[in-house]
Amino acid sequence: MRTEPIAPSLRVGRGRPDPLELIRGLEPKAALAAELKPALSDRDALAEAYRCLECGTPEVPAPCQVACPAEVDVAGFVGRIARGDAGGAARLILSSNPVGGSCARVCPTELLCEGACVLNTARDRPVDIGRLQRYAMDAAFADPASLVVDLPVKNGLRVAVIGAGPAGLATAAFLEGAGFIVTIFDDRPKAGGLVRYAIAPYRLWDEPLPEEQSWLAGLGVEFRLEHPIQSPVDLRELEAEYDAVVLAVGLGPDVRTQYPGGELPGIYESLPFIEAVKTDRPPAMGRRVAVIGGGNTAIDVAREALRLGAAEVTLVYRRTEAEMPAYPEEVAGARREGIRFQFLASPVAFRGSSHVEAVVAQVMRLGEPDATGRRRPEPVPGETVEILADSVVMAIGQEPRLTFLRMIPGLEIDRGRIVADPKTGATGNPRYFAAGDAVNGGDTVVAAVHLGKVAAHGVRQALLGGDAP
Ligand SMILES: Cc1cc2nc3c(=O)[nH]c(=O)nc-3n(C[C@H](O)[C@H](O)[C@H](O)COP(=O)(O)OP(=O)(O)OC[C@H]3O[C@@H](n4cnc5c(N)ncnc54)[C@H](O)[C@@H]3O)c2cc1C
Repeated sequence: MRTEPIAPSLRVGRGRPDPLELIRGLEPKAALAAELKPALSDRDALAEAYRCLECGTPEVPAPCQVACPAEVDVAGFVGRIARGDAGGAARLILSSNPVGGSCARVCPTELLCEGACVLNTARDRPVDIGRLQRYAMDAAFADPASLVVDLPVKNGLRVAVIGAGPAGLATAAFLEGAGFIVTIFDDRPKAGGLVRYAIAPYRLWDEPLPEEQSWLAGLGVEFRLEHPIQSPVDLRELEAEYDAVVLAVGLGPDVRTQYPGGELPGIYESLPFIEAVKTDRPPAMGRRVAVIGGGNTAIDVAREALRLGAAEVTLVYRRTEAEMPAYPEEVAGARREGIRFQFLASPVAFRGSSHVEAVVAQVMRLGEPDATGRRRPEPVPGETVEILADSVVMAIGQEPRLTFLRMIPGLEIDRGRIVADPKTGATGNPRYFAAGDAVNGGDTVVAAVHLGKVAAHGVRQALLGGDAP
């Protein structure tokens, strides 16, 4: 246990607002922006920080730190907030997680740090770690001088990072902090990857990505945005100019499907749909919306459609709730907001004359478990169901970026994922390292940060020698 005095718990901090209350009666833009985890006031942050028992020691980290893929010293930063040092808290967070402000808003904390909190018992509730992390980062970004740190002397080695999503940003921060000269290339106009263009606006719209980018630029990272690396010639140029290249390219567009009627107006793919919402071009939603899929993206899209004004939103999934890849908390949140679920139904066609009017779905039943351990859906012969819908969003996953990855000689790819050493991010091509969704097949922002850290470590070892820290 820590030796610093433990402050007494003042009171149970305020809980989070009911999501339905948040959006009731609001215009679409305001409903979309109404945060599920709003900022804490100074008073609430202090009261919440005092609840933390600051457990753990340097030798035996606290359970919340162990549960965090970025290994943020939660007890350490919460203790600093309790002592009025938000800048110190933010510096500690950034030392483990360069996108700590974004993670504070988007991490599934219930499953990670807060799930592991020792106060997470039947009689109590965990410390609101996510919102405390946000509190520290917001306070520090409002006072950038509090984040100034001594920069190391440059070692003259240059690294190109392809992709300005969380994996690329984390890799760049750790390498720049270790004395490398880092340039990030990204094809999009803004940094952040899916965090900017796909994560639900009621978690994060834009802030604090610009601040995180500025902080990284302050470390020395050069951003070349709207700069796709798209041909073997582009790659050869990077290889000539840089000592190592890190592939943090994430996954590609939505998985394509072809059903009769799929060309009807009113049918969208999930990523362009969310991007349109997040760039202030929300698609016109009908009264009835069907969302196809059972993952977190499908849940997000359903909740966004509701906020855009749809009266009835139905999520259509081919297995049952028990097999849904979406987090149970997210499913429960969607259900509380009134999202309907049509389980054991798999689309086979769309019906409509000049616009989509219904999803025609094959009725399924569950068979034996498949390779993932989940029971396999099987068609019930001759049984279909129609779900009336004047807008449909397909949210069934992302394709890997195979065309691009195949341009890199020696790169090994397994089921769409780059094969990379889990301890170094090294790939089959000694000039290339890899991190993020492109390696793990799609997970969370904080998992991408972890792999970014691993790749930075691998580059350091490869370019500076085996014992590099
Ligand atoms: C709809 C949706 C909602 C999500 N919600 C959450 C959430 O709430 N919480 C959470 O933790 N995770 C969430 N995730 C997952 C999370 O966003 C990803 O795991 C994470 O962003 C992966 O980071 P990355 O850096 O590997 O890839 P990305 O974020 O995809 O970034 C890759 C970047 O590389 C760029 N790029 C690709 N190829 C090239 C090239 N050839 N040249 C130049 N640039 C290139 C891309 O444009 C992109 O900017 C969500 C994902 C989706 C799809």
